Parts: sequence; structure tokens; C-alpha cells
Amino acid sequence: MFSFAGQYGGASTRREGAQIRPVTAPHPETWLKVTPSGLFCEPGGFFIDPTRAVDRAVISHGHSDHARPGHAHVLATAETLAIMTARMGEGRAGVAQQALGFGETLVVNGVRVWLRPAGHVLGSAQICMEWQGSRAVVSGDYKRRPDPTAAGFEPEPCDVFVTEATFALPVFRHPPAEAEIARLLRSVALFPERTHVVGCYSLGKCQRLVALLRQAGWDRPIHLHGAHVALCRLYESLGVPLGMLRTATVAKKEELKGAIVLAPPSAVADRWARRLAEPVVAVASGWMRVRQRARQGGVELPLVISDHADWDELLATAEDVQAPEIWVTHGREDALIHALSLRGIRGRALHLVGRGDEEEDTDAAEAPAA
Ligand SMILES: [Zn+2]
Repeated sequence: MFSFAGQYGGASTRREGAQIRPVTAPHPETWLKVTPSGLFCEPGGFFIDPTRAVDRAVISHGHSDHARPGHAHVLATAETLAIMTARMGEGRAGVAQQALGFGETLVVNGVRVWLRPAGHVLGSAQICMEWQGSRAVVSGDYKRRPDPTAAGFEPEPCDVFVTEATFALPVFRHPPAEAEIARLLRSVALFPERTHVVGCYSLGKCQRLVALLRQAGWDRPIHLHGAHVALCRLYESLGVPLGMLRTATVAKKEELKGAIVLAPPSAVADRWARRLAEPVVAVASGWMRVRQRARQGGVELPLVISDHADWDELLATAEDVQAPEIWVTHGREDALIHALSLRGIRGRALHLVGRGDEEEDTDAAEAPAA
């Protein structure tokens, strides 16, 4: 039977101060352990975003480096469960699934568990845990910028905050996404005979680009590479309107003149894109901040749009959560840990194995074909 039991409603109580843990409470490192399978909440008996199949997993969001197939029990937001099922197939996304909504609390073997929005992709959550008065928050991936397709990040004061560090260098300061979308639309206006092909990963970035284009007033159909269709449909069924979408095929070359086509970065780089009408090749990624990356990929129009926190967002979040200690995963740990130490915050590199970066297009490769 399902072992996440004892659910009851009610939001958590916020506490003020740099350290919420009473002196007698155990340090989070005594109950939240780094194991070869990932972070393990020992008293609760569950893993967080485990890298291999386990009995009980709490999953922060649907990207493939956080949500793996084959767990017996999975706890996540309803949206993340739906995304996992769509990508992995019925049964592989947890033999038993339990949804936990924002604002709900669950007690697992004495550990209080609740979720807060992470602002990364639809359904993405920070996993908040409290045991014997000691509180840890595992943020998964997150960003602080507004995103019409995901609930905004909410800081939760804690004793230990676990952060990603994908763009943890001062050089990474993402411009407003709206300004990048405006650059794209200016290019479309400038080259009405050409097809603009925008490389973007299939879960989150694709739907965010569509929603941003709609916000900017682009009400014409948006064309999708087949690999992007299924998740867009799922987003719409989960209440995220995306407007008129069409499947893009090379056969529609004439029709696609002046159109915007969203495709996995891998398709943008290969023959598929080159067969479209004089394509303007764009890629939307935080990595487009690195000019060399754009040049190597033959990207004519690099768009710096990221679903990860940039340097300023990482530091602002460190302040907001008031944690005296921050654990850093997958990314540039050293620079962030040094910057935190200057602010009187103790940093620790977790060196979790198996974390990728979906902006590197690991996701697109396994996106469902449709
Ligand atoms: Zn992610």
C-alpha cells in the first residue's frame, strides 16, 4: 500500500529570524543525507529527485534529470505527476502516485512535508521538510522571473536551503525575457520572407516562449516541431492557454514563410531546419549569454531566455530564505559558495551525481514524438 500517509490541510507557519531551528533541534545534515541515489530524508524514509529507481520519491519537477522512471511511490504536484506520466508512460512514473498541492501538508513518519512553487516549469516545486523543529528546503531548479506558465517562486525561511547553481557566475545576468521576445519579433518584421526557427527544450521553455509571444501580441499560429506537440497539448489540458498551434513540417515550406517555428535545439542544428525557407536560426537558452556557444551552434539570433536563476537571483534568494547554511548542487558551486561566505552564509557543495542541464538539450532527445 501507499506509504505517504497522514495527510492534513493547512499551510505552514512562517518564522522570522536568520535561524528558525531551536537550539535543541537537530542540524539538517543529521537527517537529510547525501547518498549515491541522491538526497535522502532518513526519518521520513524518502528520497528527493533520486537518480535511480527507489521505493519512495518526492519529485520537484518533470525534467528528466530530476524525474526518473521506475519508482514505487511518487509524491509531487498534480502537474508534475501528469508530466511524468505523459513522458514516461503509465506505470513507469510511479506505481503509486500521490499529489500534494501548494498549501497542503503531509506528515511522513514524523517529518512534515509541504511544497512551495519554484517558478521553473509548470508544476515545479520546492520540497520543504521539517523534523523535530529543524527545517530544510530543496528547491530543485528555480527562477525568480515571472513566467506565465508556472506559479512564481515563494521563498520559505529555513535552516538549510538547497540550491541549484546552473548559472552561478557573475557573468550570467539574464536580460528581461520580454526584451528578448521583442528582438525576435523585430527580426520577424525585418525578414517577412524567412522562417524563424527557435531552438528550445520541450518541457517548459517551449510553452513559456509561446505564452510570452502571446503576451507580446503575436496572435498568429505558432508552429511546432513534432517533438514539442505532446507537452504543449498537456499544458493546455492543465489550464495553460497557448493559442493557435500548428505542427510544422518541411512540406509546408511556403506556408512557413514569415512564421515562427519552435523546435528542439537538436533539430534546429540539423538538416530539418535548413530545408525551411531561408531560416533565421534562433536558440532560447541562458547559455546564449556565451557568445562562443551561439557561434559554434550556427545561431544567427541568440535569445537569452532561461528557466534557471541567474547570478543576482541566486544571491537574492539566499537572502530571502534567511538560511544560515546553503547546500549547492549541479553547477558552478565554487563561485557561489565564495559569494555566500562573504555574506556570512555557510556554503556546502553537495556533488550530487546524475544532474544534467536540460538547457543543454538532454530533454529534447527523449521528448515523446508526436
Ligand atoms: Zn529543470
